Amino acid sequence: NYSVLTLGDALITFNPSATGPLRYVPTFSRKVGGAELNFAIGCARLGLNAKWVSRLGGDEFGRVIYNFARGEGIDVSEVKLVEGYPSSLNFKEIREDGSGKTFYYRYQSPILTMEPSDITLEMLEGVDLVHLTGVFLAIDPKNLAITKQVLKLAKEKNIPVSFDPNIRLKLWSIEEAITAYMEIFPYVDILLTGLDEIDMIMGESSVNSLEACAERFDISQLVIKDGGNGARVYTNDTWYSKEAFAVNPIDTVGAGDGFDAGYIYAYLHGYEPLERLEFANGVGALVTTVSGDNEGLPELQEVLAFIRNEKVIER
Ligand code: ATP
Repeated sequence: NYSVLTLGDALITFNPSATGPLRYVPTFSRKVGGAELNFAIGCARLGLNAKWVSRLGGDEFGRVIYNFARGEGIDVSEVKLVEGYPSSLNFKEIREDGSGKTFYYRYQSPILTMEPSDITLEMLEGVDLVHLTGVFLAIDPKNLAITKQVLKLAKEKNIPVSFDPNIRLKLWSIEEAITAYMEIFPYVDILLTGLDEIDMIMGESSVNSLEACAERFDISQLVIKDGGNGARVYTNDTWYSKEAFAVNPIDTVGAGDGFDAGYIYAYLHGYEPLERLEFANGVGALVTTVSGDNEGLPELQEVLAFIRNEKVIER
């Protein structure tokens, strides 16, 4: 079986029990979120071995996240609970028209206790692909050095690297983000980005500028996610594109992370470019049909049945 490694923090997410301004919402349901953790859950549900490197608060909420990840079958041998650091939180506000806002409480993320020296060659033993995202970079400037240590060791071991910029403008400015990405892109084999994101990074996302970006950084697969329009990939000097599946989305948060997990699963299993897009679109579409950031991440059989349009017998 194939193994992936990802690195990042996680948060307790509080979902409001009612719509409207947060100050009038008295109760919330407690969930677990975090882009890299969502990716790891997505991979584990598809049957990959997923190792998640993280630091969590040494409090009750840290234990909730740890047990949750473990329950999903994720390898948590590199996850530590750090005493004295509170878990990161985020509260969601959902307005009557369905639009939402996120309020972060993640100023002293336990992940800040990580150092580049915490990343070792042994950690990468048996790993077939490393997946990183811009969220980890955005949390603190020192995370760039940790990320570079992972990239350096991955290169040393010839392990392919995928990267999702996952721009979070509440955590840093677009200028800071671009400066960091420019240091990361040269190490990236598979770039998985939203169309709006690559627009912000490159200034424009014409076909020419995308091809130039892939060439400049020697990115072998430049994958562009475009929500309900599906996705495309530029690889071996050729564009491939695949329409999204028609679904009734209820919650699109986490679709991008699910897509990434699906794409990486398909890549590791030797799927052709169009099949990779189809499989990843299937995972992304299924995620949007369930409320929550990772609750909708499907198991392998579910995706296969969905993309083949087979009925699943439930009883
Ligand atoms: P985020 O980071 O907010 O989760 P993203 O920008 O990385 O999202 P999107 O482009 O929104 O990712 O969605 C990822 C993939 O999920 C799409 O490429 C598509 O395959 C699927 N998807 C998203 N929205 C829809 C939709 N409305 N209908 C069908 N498929 C969708």
